Amino acid sequence: MKHQETQQRREKIVRNLKVRQELGQGLDEAQAMLNAYLKERGMNHTPERDYILWVIYHLDVPFDVDSLHKLVCEEKALICRVTVYNNLLLFVEAGVVARFQPFVNGSQFFEKCVGQKPHGYQVCRRCGAIKVLSLSEILPHVEEQVHKSFHTSQICLYALGLCNNCYKEERHDVKLKQLAMKLEKENRANARLKKPTSRRKKRYTSIKEVIRDQELQALKEKRKKN
Ligand SMILES: [Zn+2]
Repeated sequence: MKHQETQQRREKIVRNLKVRQELGQGLDEAQAMLNAYLKERGMNHTPERDYILWVIYHLDVPFDVDSLHKLVCEEKALICRVTVYNNLLLFVEAGVVARFQPFVNGSQFFEKCVGQKPHGYQVCRRCGAIKVLSLSEILPHVEEQVHKSFHTSQICLYALGLCNNCYKEERHDVKLKQLAMKLEKENRANARLKKPTSRRKKRYTSIKEVIRDQELQALKEKRKKN
């Protein structure tokens, strides 16, 4: 049940991403950083890798692996999910993509991070809706707190919670659960009341009843013998 719920929520979070041609800011710099990273480590330069990076830098929202894989498949059907995921991890290592985990179930989100304006997120932990927040006003204060000798690659700010719809849904779920618990408790109490009466020894109210029971008993024993 729990797994099914998580699966449903995951499916809800997989969003339809769209490549936006007018974007692409920071891509040249990110590609150069990636190339240098690969060269230093003697790793291969592949067209798939460059393509995935190109797609990422043409999105305007953070994304999860499944959404990105779905998009990449729609555009270029040959790349498998594992390749997409492994490349994402490599991009994070190379410092061209940032990763964050706003959800309790551990779903990971990624986004381009080279040449981007500092920003924060408002994330709904139920449906995964993400709204980008501008940090231009508060950022100078945050930067003041970061140590001068620290090499910052990303500053993040999340507002985690529930969107209005999910808040209503969650309250509804809680109420249903409470109702179910109350019913179960009542059923258990009823069952407890019934049991002793069935177990209790029969009480006779007249001598006739005793005789009738004795006769019945004798009849049963006679039948057994035959
Ligand atoms: Zn929501």
